[in-house]
Amino acid sequence: MVDISSLMSWTRHLRTRRGIQIFSHTTKMFRLHMTPFFQLLQRIFNTLDEFDSKFTFPLVAKTAQTHPDVVRWLCSFPHEIAIHGYKHVRYPFLTAQQQALEFERAIQIFKGMKIPFKGFRAPYNAYSEITMELVEKHKFNWDGGIGFHPNYRHGNNFFKIQLRNKRMSSYTCIPLCEWSDDRLIDSHRLSSEKMANILIHHMKKARQIRGVIMYDLHPIRIGQKKYIQCLNSLLSYANKIDAWVPTVSDAVDYWSKNHQWKGDAPVCCLLTGDIDNFTFFDFIRRI
Ligand SMILES: [Zn+2]
Repeated sequence: MVDISSLMSWTRHLRTRRGIQIFSHTTKMFRLHMTPFFQLLQRIFNTLDEFDSKFTFPLVAKTAQTHPDVVRWLCSFPHEIAIHGYKHVRYPFLTAQQQALEFERAIQIFKGMKIPFKGFRAPYNAYSEITMELVEKHKFNWDGGIGFHPNYRHGNNFFKIQLRNKRMSSYTCIPLCEWSDDRLIDSHRLSSEKMANILIHHMKKARQIRGVIMYDLHPIRIGQKKYIQCLNSLLSYANKIDAWVPTVSDAVDYWSKNHQWKGDAPVCCLLTGDIDNFTFFDFIRRI
């Protein structure tokens, strides 16, 4: 028999704003994960190949560890993988010791699985000063999440940040366009065409100063049949204006040596997309 009082309290829990958010987010994730992840990635790879473009995937280490076969397959493509934390948690809520442990575990897993990495992006693009110091301590070459902060997201140049010891970071930070695909799709419910128009608008802005534009296009969304056209339109435009679309590491290395983009391209376009989960069950384990 159903225990009515516990059912009532569960319903009350779900009625709270947070409860409703979790419930609708879970349903959304279930729908999105109905397409197997390798199919989403294959669709993205086909589009990238058409335009000779590269992609960078910040990947949660615990998720990588759960799916070594998918990771091996992903590593066989000429794109880049970066560290997106050990678990998908908000670092500013953790103590210094807990954050240090998250970094160490993630690095240990990447090394153990022989996944090459040079870059880091914190889950939720959420950093404390300690997080920024840990990126320095572990000698990452670049960070792809600090640039989402409102102070930086509108910029179009690589930058360094000042750490607590007043020294500038040796790693490069990159502004991250505020229009992520989850904002475009989940919050604004835009069509592929409208999404592409917004992203292109921001590429045009970066082009005016021969700068860089970095997007966060999660494979779980942009790899869907319904949205892949957005990536296609974005890359068609990039191709038309001779933009350079390399991995983040290639862009950072080239810029640090030459202070211009490869082939004297008028703009550098960086496609990144976090992989938090490979399956719906990864997502459930997380929440
Ligand atoms: Zn993430």
